[in-house]
Amino acid sequence: MSDSVDFLTYRYPDENGRFGPYGGRFVPETLMPALEELEQAYLQARNDSTFQAELQRLFLTYVGRPTPITHARRLSEQLGGAQIYLKREDLAHSGAHKINNALGQALLVKRMGKRRIVAETGAGQHGVATATVCALLGIECVVYMGTVDMARQAPNVFRMKLLGAEVRGVDSGSRTLKDAINEAIRDWVTNVGDTHYLLGSALGPHPYPTIVRDFQSVIGREARRQMLDPAAGGPGRLPDAIVACVGGGSNAIGIFHPFLADTQVRLIGVEAGGRGIESGEHAARFADPALARLGVLHGTKSFVMQDADGQIALTHSVSAGLDYASVGPEHALLRDLGRSEYTYATDDEALAGFKLLCETEGIIPALESAHAVAHLVKLAPELGKDAIILVNLSGRGDKDLDTVMSAIGQS
Ligand SMILES: *Cc1c(COP(=O)(O)O)cnc(C)c1O
Repeated sequence: MSDSVDFLTYRYPDENGRFGPYGGRFVPETLMPALEELEQAYLQARNDSTFQAELQRLFLTYVGRPTPITHARRLSEQLGGAQIYLKREDLAHSGAHKINNALGQALLVKRMGKRRIVAETGAGQHGVATATVCALLGIECVVYMGTVDMARQAPNVFRMKLLGAEVRGVDSGSRTLKDAINEAIRDWVTNVGDTHYLLGSALGPHPYPTIVRDFQSVIGREARRQMLDPAAGGPGRLPDAIVACVGGGSNAIGIFHPFLADTQVRLIGVEAGGRGIESGEHAARFADPALARLGVLHGTKSFVMQDADGQIALTHSVSAGLDYASVGPEHALLRDLGRSEYTYATDDEALAGFKLLCETEGIIPALESAHAVAHLVKLAPELGKDAIILVNLSGRGDKDLDTVMSAIGQS
């Protein structure tokens, strides 16, 4: 199918918010007006140079953009193959790429004249990014979080409160992310006149996957320029492959998108292989056709992990950010088109990747990002010494120290 698509003129989603057979807007009627309002506001903001200039100013002066690229010399040497470059989203303010999207949407909220943001969070990272930009811009912030997650992620709950957000515990269902999502959407529907729902990954009903992709594409635009520019530490040419971890898919789509037309550059997403595909305890939506089938979750059509009755399956990953039953619809389309490819790393491989990056480069990565690093162990030798790989280091690992400590011990 890839022959039939010219990536120079790639224009997805279509006017119905669809990425080929994926995406769309599968929501109750009560949400339609809010989504249409958001779409209109976004389309206007996208073409408004004042809006874009304000976003650029805050990227520069608050987030710390552009984030650098780093030539991982010792890691490359150790793996004995391709030269590896890291795009350093771990150095963005608040420690991950999530701030790019949170800031963009919060500016949009100001523009729409709303005064309140609701969000949901599982591990707390998206909640922290949202609370951060709300503090910056003076917007009321309510974050819904399952009470089980609140107990597991107490430091992030405290961070959000320090940043002035109200964290509302959700005690229904499994008391985790999916219950928090339901509550956040309920709040949004009830208060839609003055409230925006700030979604954190390249998921959800149209126009969210597009909005999140566009705000995260700053990663790929910067990286493309930096790779071509020796003065920015780049090799002076485009990479042969780009590797990024895929939870909902926002950091991956953000670095992939500006390279779509560079069809010689392989785009490789790494999902969470958990305890192995055979175990069924993973979040590798593309790797397990027995568990992940076409379905609708949270308003968008994509690959969804589900049981034989279509009930959403429980997923597992050592990294909370990759532990989600569905994957962004644009990834599903790019995969069908043969433009991107997906693989997975297990918990154990990710933990080994985590240690490897710490010891060779002096960088403690997020466990999510460690999945991308883990794939290098296979890919770098395979591609050989003349090849160049760019890895999206989506976040830093401070948040994961407890998890890693109990998984590999303190030795
Ligand atoms: C949330 C998170 C992810 C996963 O989300 P995507 O939308 O797939 O990018 C990856 N890395 C880090 C550091 C995160 O916090």
